[in-house]
This record gives sequence, structure tokens and C-alpha cells, in this order.
Amino acid sequence: MSGPRIGVTGVTRHVLGADRSQVNAAYVYAVLHAGGVPLILPPLIRPEDAGTVLDSLDGLLLSGGEDVDPAHFNSEPHPALGDVDPKRDAFELALFREAWRRQMPVLAICRGLQLVNVALGGTLWQDIPSERPGGLGHKQEADRDDRTHPVDLVPGSRLAAALGATRCDVNSFHHQSVRQLASGLMITAAAPDGEIEGLESAAGAPWLLAVQWHPEEFHADHEAPDHGLFAALVQAVRG
Ligand code: MN
Repeated sequence: MSGPRIGVTGVTRHVLGADRSQVNAAYVYAVLHAGGVPLILPPLIRPEDAGTVLDSLDGLLLSGGEDVDPAHFNSEPHPALGDVDPKRDAFELALFREAWRRQMPVLAICRGLQLVNVALGGTLWQDIPSERPGGLGHKQEADRDDRTHPVDLVPGSRLAAALGATRCDVNSFHHQSVRQLASGLMITAAAPDGEIEGLESAAGAPWLLAVQWHPEEFHADHEAPDHGLFAALVQAVRG
């Protein structure tokens, strides 16, 4: 059986004098490990071509990266807002909305989780340390595959089933988080300080899993429960 085609949203980075369309290969390794065929999607693609892109895909992985421009949830930029990429925002919002309309399975990671919430009408905390002081550290300086805080998963959720657990230690590389939850989504994971760490679609809505941590960074550990998230995406596509 050939593997399903999984679109992985990429980034634009200026490296060694040239703009480059690229992605952290951890996503690629993780999709390959799950039996999928990863296809990198440059964020420079025009939003109006989102449907054309999806015509050649079976599933979608929205990757991490820049902050979502708060203009997309009708807010003014906070002083601690990080880098934004207007072209990436426009392409990914169009891509996700069209995937949702087509009921294409989606796995959304970090920025991807935040983008999905915004695309469906929710809002974000723009800077956890200044807007939500006193919580856990969510922007770790430890290695990418160090697990620095726990998350509690809702028993019986798609997310708990995919991880095979109701508590999991995770890595954390975000300074933003979900503020107002969009309709059509359910919270299925949270950190002990209350920050939302996982979302999924409600019954009857298109298949969606979203996590605030970076499960792809554990790709080299074949015992990591995080592989279950990528396996669940591939299984949803095949189902
Ligand atoms: Mn976190």
C-alpha cells in the first residue's frame, strides 16, 4: 500500500544570502515514520491556489513557526508579539479553511494549533509571560527533545487515544496560547497552569488533532508516544 500524501506547511528563511522555502526535517522524519509521504508546501503559494494544492494531497500537517498576526483575530499587536509572516498567514488560513470545508484530516502543531483556532473564529494570548504571569515556563531553553512540563489529556479523547495515555510530559516552545476557543473545537489537553495544550474537532466536524507542543522532535525515539499523533493522521486519511 502506498503512503498517503501529507502536505507539511513550510517557512521562508533568509539563509546565506537567499530566501529559502524549507521546513524543519523533524516533521518530515515523523511523517515518514508513520508511513506517509511528506510534501513540503512553501508559504509563498498564493492563497487563491489553496484548493489546487489540496487537490494533490490526502492529509495536511500545519507546522510551527511565527506568531499569527493578531489582525486576524481583530486585536492590536502586543509589544511582545514575535515575528509574523503575512504571506504565510494568508496561505495557511486559506489552506486550512479549504481543507476543513473538504473534510480533509488535519494535524496542527504549535503555531498550527493557534492558526486553526484563529481560522475558526477564536483568539490568542499574544505573550504568556506578560499577559499570563505566574504560570509555567512554556518557552524552554532546554534541547528540542527535552520534556519540560506535563500535560493532562481528557480521557476518551482522540488525543488521549493517539498518545495511549492521560498524562504526558512534553517539550514547550511557545509564548502564545489559545485565549477564546473557536466553536467547533474541544479542549483535550491542558498544562497544570491552565494553558491549553491540545484541541480536537467536535463530533461530526472534520477530523482534526492539534497540539501546542512539538511531537515531531521525538521522531528519533521510536518508543515516544508522540508517534501516535502522526500515526493517527495517517490512519484518519486511510479511514
Ligand atoms: Mn507548553
